[in-house]
Amino acid sequence: MILVGVMIATLWGIGALTGAPRQARLYMIGLLMTGVIAAHLLLPDGHPLRMATGGEAAFWLLILAGGALVWGYGRGLRMLKARAAPAEAPVPRKGFSETELTRYARHITLREIGGPGQGALRRARVLVVGAGGLGCPALTYLAASGVGTIGVIDDDAVDLSNLGRQVLFDEAQIGRPKVHAAAEKLRAQNPHVEIRPYARRLTSEIAQELFSDYDLILDGTDNFATREVVNAAAVATGKPLVAAALTQWEGQISLYDLARGTPCWACVFPQRPDASLIPSCAEAGVVSPLPGIIGAMMAAEAVKRIAGAGETLAGRLMIFDVLYADSRTIAVRPRAGCAVCGGRGLEAGAARP
Ligand SMILES: [Zn+2]
Repeated sequence: MILVGVMIATLWGIGALTGAPRQARLYMIGLLMTGVIAAHLLLPDGHPLRMATGGEAAFWLLILAGGALVWGYGRGLRMLKARAAPAEAPVPRKGFSETELTRYARHITLREIGGPGQGALRRARVLVVGAGGLGCPALTYLAASGVGTIGVIDDDAVDLSNLGRQVLFDEAQIGRPKVHAAAEKLRAQNPHVEIRPYARRLTSEIAQELFSDYDLILDGTDNFATREVVNAAAVATGKPLVAAALTQWEGQISLYDLARGTPCWACVFPQRPDASLIPSCAEAGVVSPLPGIIGAMMAAEAVKRIAGAGETLAGRLMIFDVLYADSRTIAVRPRAGCAVCGGRGLEAGAARP
């Protein structure tokens, strides 16, 4: 009996020293036990080998049965554990986890985006100025698209009158800073992207430094003064700018990308209109789905620009009229005497093949 114990220990020890897998060592011991039991059943009573290995086959059969029970229990436990573990445990593949691959599957399927485009989206840093009617849908689709770093700057708080079109917010968030209310919703929508809220007004003092942290700027503000600040900082830092604006039933949007020969926003809108001539959204009203349409288009322009897909609105201004369900696109060109960019896009445009 002691002999068999020593043989089992020796087999296990040799297995451990030679680095044999656990499974192989267990098989070897099983083989030994089978041999011992066979010897007990086949050899006559009193045979020296039987005497040396315990005398009775029943004893070894019991030990074998006990071992099998312990092994079976352990295996069952491991299977249960494997079943209880989350099915979507992150498995890094090409830099994306299984969860992310599933989340972005419809993008990755698109020929124009694919894996490389989705990777570019994840590496991209996009700043949205204004978390209002345009900012809400733009932010929503940037986060859903998997843009890796999304900044949002706004100094406003959620108001009941916003809820008619600013779809990121709910009644429980009234009074909270918009950027924090938005960040909470966006993080819940996509925990794989980083949301950076800035609860302050964008001023010319901070604009350039802030813009330099981002690759692309989206302007969804509702006043001319902030638009001027955004454009000046975008031109100074050389960042492409998707700017949009709304009035009542009509929206307009373009991509200002000077390095690609486009005008800057001030080339197209050089004169600050008389304040009495441009009623605000509060005074003039705006139809609820319009900011949704134009804001989603801003996100679409951002996705195309980042992934290098299709034709962006660079050098074109799109005007979308919801009331008559009509849209038109007009060409816009750099203006030589522009006070902000000096018509810089003209050279870039001429240099382009
Ligand atoms: Zn200009």
